[in-house]
Amino acid sequence: MHRPALEREIQLVGHELAKAFPSRRGHPIRALDERAMDLAARDEELRAALFRFVDVVPACRSAGDLATHLIGFLDEVHDQPPPLSAAMRMACSGAGRAALGAASAASVRHMAHRFIVGSDPRAALPTLARLWHDAIATSVDLLGEATVTAVEADRYAARCAAALDVLAPAYAAMDPHPLLERDSVGVLPRANLSVKVSALTPLLRAEAPARGRDDAAPRLRELLRRADALGAHLHIDMESLDSREAVLELVLELLAEPEFERGPSAGIVLQAYLRDSPETLDRVLDWARATPRPGVALVVRLVKGAYWDHEVVEARSHGWSVPVFEEKAACDRNFETLTERLMQARPAVRVAIASHNLRSVSHAIACNRLQGGSDADVELQVLRGLGDDLGHALATLGLRVRAYCPVGDLVAGMAYLVRRLLENTANESFLHDQATGVPLELLLAPPAT
Ligand SMILES: Cc1cc2nc3c(=O)[nH]c(=O)nc-3n(C[C@H](O)[C@H](O)[C@H](O)COP(=O)(O)OP(=O)(O)OC[C@H]3O[C@@H](n4cnc5c(N)ncnc54)[C@H](O)[C@@H]3O)c2cc1C
Repeated sequence: MHRPALEREIQLVGHELAKAFPSRRGHPIRALDERAMDLAARDEELRAALFRFVDVVPACRSAGDLATHLIGFLDEVHDQPPPLSAAMRMACSGAGRAALGAASAASVRHMAHRFIVGSDPRAALPTLARLWHDAIATSVDLLGEATVTAVEADRYAARCAAALDVLAPAYAAMDPHPLLERDSVGVLPRANLSVKVSALTPLLRAEAPARGRDDAAPRLRELLRRADALGAHLHIDMESLDSREAVLELVLELLAEPEFERGPSAGIVLQAYLRDSPETLDRVLDWARATPRPGVALVVRLVKGAYWDHEVVEARSHGWSVPVFEEKAACDRNFETLTERLMQARPAVRVAIASHNLRSVSHAIACNRLQGGSDADVELQVLRGLGDDLGHALATLGLRVRAYCPVGDLVAGMAYLVRRLLENTANESFLHDQATGVPLELLLAPPAT
């Protein structure tokens, strides 16, 4: 691709998108209205204390209990900023402790509700319908990760099947939205569910991927059948690296079975933070070319990866070489290279770009346009709660958007919530840069070499 032309197009798209932002509620992080998160972003100790607190909230039985935990964690922070010292002073009396506990419980719930669209799929329907009305498709994710028994895996599979049963008729009753329902490959299912293999089997282990794969296969096969019968899409999320092999093998082997040749529409995830992701893409593309599925080409959702801290700590603790890029710009450059390769591989695959980074998203749109693709031929995905403004801005510009919408209760949602908060406050995150006022020119600049 002609680089100067691509850069010009990225700048055009990026400025157009940035202009569409202020018409919504304003700043992604400011919109979260979490002063605590602002403080946390600046202080590692405070950040750690808040994450430990968020983790224990669901187990607390009363406001006093909550306050005791909060104070316990915050007490470990050495240089307390003034709002924190004020909270600690409040906790000196019984009444103050109860008030502090109630206020902190309310903030955690408030925070969780920005990311979680309902306690179950039925409760989520009004939000999903509102998004569809605003020209935003969704993928529903049932919260609850890492299953430890077969009974739990069966229960998760049953919840997924029940979710498809609720979502498919509900979406069928919604008004038509041509942009969200067809691309040049064919029909795009309205109902879309994201599932996690770690919840479909208790046997997922890096050292024995075949065990986890074989144990999850019957449950995933049933879900594929259900999705096919209901005309829904099933997306298989990617988790930490230790499960990648099992997940990839499982999905690619099942979708190659003759009964799934013509459906359902299904997808996998490619994580650009992994150094070996270009080789993983080779493998996926070889599979896609050798396994044509007419009208239901494999959807590849490109992400950077949500387990960066985990992968670094895990590798270092074992003395292994770190499998993820350790420089943010290297990860961003790889994301752009993979975007270009995925787009060139169409129609063997359908492409979904999942990012809140204005540069990464503008690059994908620009790249598609310069390759002569129609805007309908690339899906742009955002996370509910983090990418709401970007999602609406993209939809306003007539681009095809899907929001990933977690469903479940607060207890099940804690791991998810903590990951999102880590993302929100990480120094090297695009959202952090945007929130701290980094100018648009720098936000849209090519990742440094
Ligand atoms: C719709 C949707 C679905 C998703 N599904 C999945 C999924 O199935 N599996 C999954 O793992 N993730 C998933 N994610 C999360 C995604 O991987 C990213 O964590 C998140 O979107 C942040 O990336 P960004 O491009 O939005 O932001 P950016 O701020 O541009 O990038 C942040 C990301 O850069 C990477 N990074 C941070 N610091 C460094 C560093 N020092 N060196 C190298 N890389 C670094 C990390 O991956 C971090 O998450 C999904 C995201 C979306 C929007």
